[in-house]
Amino acid sequence: MNSIPDILSAQRTFFKSQKTKAIAYRLQLLKALKAEIISREQAIYDALKKDFRKPEFESYLSEFGLVLSELNLVIKNLKKWAKPKRVKASILTYPSKDYIYKEPYGNVLIIGPWNYPFLLTIEPVIMAIAAGNTVVLKPSELTENTSKLVSEIINTVFPKEVATSVQGAVDVATELLAQKWDYIFFTGSVPVGKIVAKAAAKHLTPVTLELGGKSPCIIDDTVDLKLAARRIVWGKFLNGGQTCIAADYLIVKDTIKAPLLDMLKKEITRAYGNDPKASVDFPRIINKRNTERLAKALEGADIIFGGDIDMEDRYIAPTLVNEPALDSALMSDEIFGPILPILSYDTEEAIENIIRNFEKPLAFYVFSNNTSFVENTIKKFEFGGGVVNDLLIHFGNHRLPFGGVGASGMGAYHGKLGFDTFSHDKAIVKRGNWTDPPVRYAPYKDKLSLMKKMFKWFG
Ligand code: NAD
Repeated sequence: MNSIPDILSAQRTFFKSQKTKAIAYRLQLLKALKAEIISREQAIYDALKKDFRKPEFESYLSEFGLVLSELNLVIKNLKKWAKPKRVKASILTYPSKDYIYKEPYGNVLIIGPWNYPFLLTIEPVIMAIAAGNTVVLKPSELTENTSKLVSEIINTVFPKEVATSVQGAVDVATELLAQKWDYIFFTGSVPVGKIVAKAAAKHLTPVTLELGGKSPCIIDDTVDLKLAARRIVWGKFLNGGQTCIAADYLIVKDTIKAPLLDMLKKEITRAYGNDPKASVDFPRIINKRNTERLAKALEGADIIFGGDIDMEDRYIAPTLVNEPALDSALMSDEIFGPILPILSYDTEEAIENIIRNFEKPLAFYVFSNNTSFVENTIKKFEFGGGVVNDLLIHFGNHRLPFGGVGASGMGAYHGKLGFDTFSHDKAIVKRGNWTDPPVRYAPYKDKLSLMKKMFKWFG
């Protein structure tokens, strides 16, 4: 394999050749990627199953299907998105034709996580290539099979001076981050996000950081409990709870806590049976270290449902925990597993007292049929994005930006915004020569009132 500096140097030279600026070339690459992905559909499901027993249905719903629809969207719209956009002239540019040109940043580094190891590596690659950049991708070392397959796909479709996927762990990531990139797109944990931001700052490289956090889910007493419980169980335990936008914990109105708990238990059993370990629909924890971390966080907790652990099998049952203290292990960090703490509230102030303990979360959920409660709540708190009366589904609309705020990340993508993320907006004024109003030129004597009027006319 070529060294990282060699790969980057080849990509720099290629970018300067202007070949990635041609929309037809980008489309050719994206269509080739689509064909390769489609031809490997079953292999992708098999790899995800091998890595953490991800069910094929979830692999389609939350990875393959989403990637394919983003690819189709980009292929359909790229010409339109990439076209210079005319904007109105201003008092200072008139007479002119003013435009925003979409310019690729150049050489992009993408570092991916393990939890959606196909979606969260391939989607940013699609958008970076669509915008005319070159790419080096490093998938996570923890999903050995999927990351190997992702690398094979990238390295089969793209000439290495356009896009390359390198495999490796922290050492490889560290070497990559030591290079000078034109853009870095990172998805992963908050602590590593800080390392990435620091490395990027050295070269003033712009970054997107897609991070995590403790995403709350509030349930008031106006909801249909059965429907709420069904949706919460789906969104929390999908992917074995290893979802950056899963509800990390519930904050439930005290008067409905008991019936909601009953419904949650029923829904877990309905989804995964009496023995979720035997269910083909319930994934495993990614590795032993994370299984141990979750088992440790459960020590001393008031487990009201589930709690079974099989360390060898990397199995943790869907588990409900009653009122953990805010300084307990479960509540100190993002859980990232199939454990759902249930806190209760009596007043809105109590909700605030819980949520304000944590940094701004990536996601936020409120189940309620009380419109003013919903509006007040979603306006009061700062968070990346959220859903009223369901979990996760904001991720699935390419017309919505997906990203965090504060400690949960910076920047956003999906759909056209993904293309925009990897493009610099270059302002171009094409000045007309048919007239040259003399008002701006010195000497300025007697011109100020006319200039003031002109500012008013143009607005
Ligand atoms: P991670 O931060 O441990 O790893 C992510 C990537 O960073 C991997 O490729 C890894 O090899 C690399 N890495 C690890 N240590 C590094 C270091 N010291 N220097 C440079 N690179 C390093 O995250 P993870 O465990 O793969 O993923 C889980 C986290 O990601 C959770 O916090 C989750 O919330 C977050 N996440 C966020 C999103 C999002 O879209 N916002 C999506 C998925 C996951």
